[in-house]
Amino acid sequence: MATTDVTAPHVALFPCAGMGHLLPFLRVAAMLASRGCTVTIITAQPTVSAAESDQLSSFFAIHPQINRLEFRLLPYKKSKFTNEDPFFIQIESIVNSVHLLHPILSSLLPSLSAIVADFPVISSISQLAIDLSISLYIVITTSARFFSLMAYLPRLAHDNYPKRNDCIEVPGLGPIPVSNIPPPMLNPNHFFSENIRSNVLSLNKVKGILINTFNWFESEAIQALSSSSSGVAPLLPVGPFESFEIGKAHNLPWLDEQTPESVIFISFGSRTALSKDQIRELGTGLEKSGCKFLWVLKTSKVDKDDKDDRDEILGESFLERTKEQGLVVKGWVNQEQILAHPAIGGFVSHCGWNSVIEAARLGVPILAWPQHGDQKVNAEVVEKAGLGLLVGDWGWGGEKLVDKNEIADKIKELMLGKNTTRAKEVKEKARHAREINGTSEGLLRGLIDSFQSKE
Ligand code: UDP
Ligand code: UDP
Ligand code: UDP
Repeated sequence: MATTDVTAPHVALFPCAGMGHLLPFLRVAAMLASRGCTVTIITAQPTVSAAESDQLSSFFAIHPQINRLEFRLLPYKKSKFTNEDPFFIQIESIVNSVHLLHPILSSLLPSLSAIVADFPVISSISQLAIDLSISLYIVITTSARFFSLMAYLPRLAHDNYPKRNDCIEVPGLGPIPVSNIPPPMLNPNHFFSENIRSNVLSLNKVKGILINTFNWFESEAIQALSSSSSGVAPLLPVGPFESFEIGKAHNLPWLDEQTPESVIFISFGSRTALSKDQIRELGTGLEKSGCKFLWVLKTSKVDKDDKDDRDEILGESFLERTKEQGLVVKGWVNQEQILAHPAIGGFVSHCGWNSVIEAARLGVPILAWPQHGDQKVNAEVVEKAGLGLLVGDWGWGGEKLVDKNEIADKIKELMLGKNTTRAKEVKEKARHAREINGTSEGLLRGLIDSFQSKE
């Protein structure tokens, strides 16, 4: 049964589309609930992926004190954008349905102290928050570095966008090569850039910005965003967000048999599928590296469509040859548990921000192979913090076929180098941030106090 403590602040959390957004929101929900808040999570239905609906079911099963508010979306209406990405389409549907939340939220008991929403819906939810006299906070699910770039976007004149070989100077960050900025962000007619622009312009309606990072890890960007000239509401780097499934047993006996720090983990997150050719090239690269590996294979953007057979894509002879060396799994795994496993000594990651911050929290060095969106800028953070190595210029996802020998060389460089020592230092810094007198924990407690004050 959900808590109805009338003295506790009641907070509604409203995540957008995709596991990369849902998981950090669920982590914030659990962190607030364990610190005395009454929490309601608004879950847009239907979800895009099966992973999201499965995650929601298991989350509410282990957190019976947290309320679930199912929010049925209006059917998708074709918009002015030629939008084919199912996650972006979901964001548009959410934006078009937000007005339906008014009567639902106004009738919640105890009445709400705050709404904590996802960045892509700020401009649509801010009026609702004003009408209901509820404070609006947001969670940013990308790095402070990429968020700085997002916040800077409206200042770039449409007709004067930089060219691919240029750099953008975001105040306080130093130059960011345009080749690291996702092309849709510099295309004023793309949903991605339009959504960022309109929401950045609504940031002044937000009371505080929770972000899954910590001072030591991204001090430069945090400082830049916190300066009065950034035009951004108070930034609350309260990360790394805590895991909500601590102690849950994993089911990978193969991993338990491996020696400490000997296995490289390969995953490109919840919505990035490599091409079949690139998958085979990666397989051969792993084999050639001679390193032990655990590889989560994904062949389509949305898991419900992922019908390809592992053995067919990789070939039975590959699987036979590598059966001692590695394990290839298809389907959802618990990445945090894998990264926490003593046998894991490295992580080939697309640098989705959740993956980066999990690796930081668990002290696993990254071989950064960014593919889309914010990932190249996130990879800059990985390199700057010394959490790992960047691949060379391997292009955007699908732009070129990266050769097996290059992949093998980089994997060996990561696994044979001295990267784990530095990664463990990062882990220590992350742990400090979350301690009772750490920077992140302090901000989180302050936030909960501010939920109680109405102004
Ligand atoms: N994840 C997982 N198991 C998987 C794939 C992904 O647990 O099989 C988690 C991962 O730990 C991370 C999130 O899903 O928390 C993916 O978010 P990220 O920002 O890394 O990348 P995205 O999926 O948004 O590209
Ligand atoms: N994409 C992805 N993960 C991300 C960002 C983008 O899978 O984190 C997808 C995106 O939805 C698109 C493709 O990768 O289908 C190429 O994305 P990009 O943003 O580079 O360009 P678009 O094709 O959307 O113009
Ligand atoms: N984002 C956005 N509008 C969109 C899609 C994404 O503002 O239409 C934001 C998103 O909230 C995230 C950042 O842009 O903070 C990077 O998004 P991307 O899709 O690249 O990665 P995701 O976090 O969704 O995996």
